[in-house]
Amino acid sequence: MGVSAPTQPRRGPAGAAIVRVEPITTARALCGPFDYRLGEELRGEVERGSMLVVPFGRRQILGVVTGLAERSDVPSEKLLEPVRALELGVPAELIALAEWVAAEYCSTFARALGLVLPPGAARRLSGRRRRRSAEPRHRTVGATASEPPTLSADQRQALVPILAALAEPGAQQLLLRGVTGSGKTEVYLRATESALASGRSAIVMVPEIALTPQIVTRFVARFGDTVAVLHSRLTAGQRYEQWRRLREGEARVCVGPRSAVFAPLGDLGLIVVDEEHDASYKQHEGDPRYDAREVAVRRAEQTGALLLAGSATPRPESVRRMRAVELPRRVDGRPLPSVSVLDMRGLRPGLHPVTAEALARVRDEGGKAIVLLNRRGWSNFMSCRSCGRVWSCPECDVALVLHRAGGYLACHHCGHRERTPASCPDCGSTSVARHGAGTERLAHDLAEILDDGGFPVFRLDADVLDGGQEAEHGTVLASFEAAASGVLIGTQMVAKGHDFPDVTLGVVLDADATLRFPDFRAEERTFALIAQLAGRAGRGAEGRVLVQTIAPEARAIRYAARHDSRGFLEAELQRREALAYPPYGHLVRIVMGAETGEPARAAALDVRQGTLDRLAEVDPTGSGATAVLGPAPLFRLRGRERQVLVVKTTRRAEAVAAVGRAVAATAADRTHAGVSFSVDVDPQ
Ligand code: ADP
Ligand code: ZN
Ligand code: ZN
Repeated sequence: MGVSAPTQPRRGPAGAAIVRVEPITTARALCGPFDYRLGEELRGEVERGSMLVVPFGRRQILGVVTGLAERSDVPSEKLLEPVRALELGVPAELIALAEWVAAEYCSTFARALGLVLPPGAARRLSGRRRRRSAEPRHRTVGATASEPPTLSADQRQALVPILAALAEPGAQQLLLRGVTGSGKTEVYLRATESALASGRSAIVMVPEIALTPQIVTRFVARFGDTVAVLHSRLTAGQRYEQWRRLREGEARVCVGPRSAVFAPLGDLGLIVVDEEHDASYKQHEGDPRYDAREVAVRRAEQTGALLLAGSATPRPESVRRMRAVELPRRVDGRPLPSVSVLDMRGLRPGLHPVTAEALARVRDEGGKAIVLLNRRGWSNFMSCRSCGRVWSCPECDVALVLHRAGGYLACHHCGHRERTPASCPDCGSTSVARHGAGTERLAHDLAEILDDGGFPVFRLDADVLDGGQEAEHGTVLASFEAAASGVLIGTQMVAKGHDFPDVTLGVVLDADATLRFPDFRAEERTFALIAQLAGRAGRGAEGRVLVQTIAPEARAIRYAARHDSRGFLEAELQRREALAYPPYGHLVRIVMGAETGEPARAAALDVRQGTLDRLAEVDPTGSGATAVLGPAPLFRLRGRERQVLVVKTTRRAEAVAAVGRAVAATAADRTHAGVSFSVDVDPQ
């Protein structure tokens, strides 16, 4: 059995004789790994992460080496040899990371591998190298770029433990807790500079490139061509080119959204997670539903890199586990803006008189304001005035949202669209009521109220340029920045890390909207949203923030109004501990979907029982470390009835493994054909 060790290695030391290869394909039947025998010329040349072209049936396919071995269980005469190796493979470290992601998020190795492979890997069977770009261009630093500023005393002090951690590689985590406008980006830049100076590389994760162009600009200005930027507007070819530059060491800094955590950089010294509270770091759809912040922690541990997370509103999870470094003041010494909570109880929805007056004053003084309303479209739902019909999605149990300019109603859950009706299809009435207001309506109303020609209204939400092209988002932000004065209206997008020194007024409308979500993170989110929006105001001149709400006593709103992140987190951590919510416990959410309700429920009951059985195997005493809640129905989505189970546990790995096995067994059971399963560990 197996192949004996090579007798005459031609190059280098004798390598292993067998490689385990995972085919890169979406075909489920091709789930590997498969063993291949290395010919003389590939021995010692192939390692974990190498990419090989291998014979497979009558075809040749691309595969990645996930392991090497001296022998195989397959009789040697049946083993085939790879055709050839591609010049560039994946760093072995990322194969290990993919293994971890698969286990941690209840996914499969093949799916997790998809995250770390070169972009477009499956289509690159030819393996031909793209033409390299010419000589690396020279650094753009100089006259296009500003000199690094002199550090403030706070920044200098914050950098002491950061630089010390970088000088002593070994897994370390630091949380840069800096109020909005405290100059966190400059601290990241100096940390990156230090990593580069010691011959190491850096990953800088940002929430969404299109919404945070300023930090990208600052990194490129400081480090020039050694920065590779990943963003969703890149073509497949450009994406591969960035990957290649990182893999070959031409680029040593990778700036990008959550996928940047898988950048193929060697000698990693630093991983920055900017605005670490941002929900976009969690993959919400598909499989695996990884949390890039957790993957970053893991990768830092694997490589000895420093993990530096930063935020003005850090997550309870991070506060609890990381050593904090503080930037307690704004860079220019300006105070944080004053925040007034405006009680909307008993008032007509819309602008509070104080808000209307403050906006008019900003207009009269030629200043700038930002208004946040976390709801897009014209109105939330429409009903017929004579028969009461509510327009709802044919595929989901939710109301359709009116988009007036586009002339359509849309489902914000599945994307279904239909033309705005001229009359009620049930009774023929042409009298239709529109309820609630979203950003489209607000932008329209404000343009009317404030209109005097010279005070433009800019809108930023996912509907900008239908479908939300990122280019367009960047354009809106750039236009607002360039304008002499004006108001920017939008969803949570307007509260991201923007640095516009001339914004003096920030307004949050319907601040309690996010509190009404039945989710244990609702308070954390509301607090962060208000505090972050407040952080956009008063960066260059004195600022003021108005928060309209019908829940002025809500904890999240009271603490945000006082800029009291510490107080909020203290109370929030106590609450979480009492309820065994993260970070004191973990949740796993399993959703079963089917065309009708009954099969989904039957499958959910089986998954529930299967999970309990497997937990009992590992813990016969039933210590109560894990509870399985449900099944409970969820609203119909994309034509599928759904049932949800929630597993609440203090023994995460055990529970994830039990859920994984129970779901796999239930999914394989033919009784449940037609049921879909999705597992979300630490759902957001
Ligand atoms: P944060 O991310 O903490 O909200 P930023 O990194 O956006 O803050 O910095 C706020 C502003 O302060 C930016 O315009 C930045 O250029 C400026 N800034 C940062 N550090 C300094 C410094 N040491 N001296 C002068 N200006 C600085
Ligand atoms: Zn009707
Ligand atoms: Zn829908």
